Amino acid sequence: MARMAPGSGAANVWPLTQQKPLFSIFGDVEESIGVRLTDRCLMIPIKSVSGIFFPNADKFESCQLCQREHCQGRRAPYSEELVRKYEEA
Ligand code: SF4
Repeated sequence: MARMAPGSGAANVWPLTQQKPLFSIFGDVEESIGVRLTDRCLMIPIKSVSGIFFPNADKFESCQLCQREHCQGRRAPYSEELVRKYEEA
């Protein structure tokens, strides 16, 4: 399974503002699980995590789309080719 989150590293491909449509899928998220979005699409409580998991045979990692140079959590090298592919899609 691969995973992606709005605004998490690969913000050029899936910007943080996409939290709103993602949350809208689940109705009243604050009522359901106690998580809400601020006007700037940040989640309260902090340390909450959003995103999607999806099957992927290519071992995709969102780090491949992230330009952050010094990240201790990096799971795969940055791929400019892959970024171009998703930006054109
Ligand atoms: S390199 Fe770091 S900041 Fe970027 S997507 Fe991966 S874990 Fe997140």
